[in-house]
Amino acid sequence: MRFLLILLASLIAVPAIAAPKQKDIDAYRALVAQDLRLETVGYRLAKANAPFCDVKQRNPGWVLHSYRQYPDRALAKAAFRFRTAVSIAVIVEGGPADKAGLTPGDGVYHMENAISLGADRARHKPSHETTDWVSADMLRLFALPRPVTLGFETAQGSRDFILDPPQVCASNFVISTGGKADAGADGKRVRISAKLAEFTPDEDEFASLVAHELAHNILGHRALLDGAKAKRGLGRMFGKSKKLIRQTELEADQLSIWLMANAGYDPEAALRFIERYGRRYGHGIFSDGTHYRWKKRRKFMQAEIDTLTKAVRGEDGYLPPLLAKPAVARVSDASSQ
Ligand SMILES: [Zn+2]
Repeated sequence: MRFLLILLASLIAVPAIAAPKQKDIDAYRALVAQDLRLETVGYRLAKANAPFCDVKQRNPGWVLHSYRQYPDRALAKAAFRFRTAVSIAVIVEGGPADKAGLTPGDGVYHMENAISLGADRARHKPSHETTDWVSADMLRLFALPRPVTLGFETAQGSRDFILDPPQVCASNFVISTGGKADAGADGKRVRISAKLAEFTPDEDEFASLVAHELAHNILGHRALLDGAKAKRGLGRMFGKSKKLIRQTELEADQLSIWLMANAGYDPEAALRFIERYGRRYGHGIFSDGTHYRWKKRRKFMQAEIDTLTKAVRGEDGYLPPLLAKPAVARVSDASSQ
């Protein structure tokens, strides 16, 4: 029924609007190609470093999307296959979803037999609501310590898949659109802008970016900074706060080197990226004194690579010095800076 309605809607919509242009279809596909790059690198980093992360989640290695989240739904439907309202956009090669036999375009139709695609409250405006809703439900299911049964509409019809993904470092990976070449980490998500992803075609350099943001989440920096801000009050956040932010940036740079090495990326790529980015953007968005200049950052990272070179790789990988202490001790250390 849902299918039929979608089909009817698109049949009615076609004569009213011009057929999507190939270049617009390509632009949508290029964006989703960056999603695949980010999810692939993010999954690899999160999996390889799982033994050293305090907070973990089970990640099936996919990105879900809905045509409802695109500004032009007809264009989205021309660019991608949506077998249901929320479908798989990309799948990490060799990841749990890939191994289970799922493919992009396969659409969620039940989660442990509950049909729950949510109401389409944003009927016309682009909205992530449905995708977020399904993703949150998935996360809750994958938090259960057992295999999870999910129903998908596939090329072979409705099929049940039993997924049992391993625990990896907790973070979701998202490509953002908008003008800036920037990135961020809010404790739960690693965000890389499409512009920054395009600026970084080299995979190892791209991994250094993702590793830096993932490091912020692993080290609980967002909560730490929010806590410090609340304690001091907004009016007095400068000075001491800048120092604390610089400290978290330094730590993320340092930890990123170890995360990269454990996942098989070349840590030297972090040096190449910071120099290239520094020369292109200068202080740019980081001109407020919260970030060290790129030459200094490169020097710190070089020192960390020297430490790594002398370190002995354990059975689970290199133990990053910053993660050698329990989380509680790490937070109180940083707060006393
Ligand atoms: Zn940072």
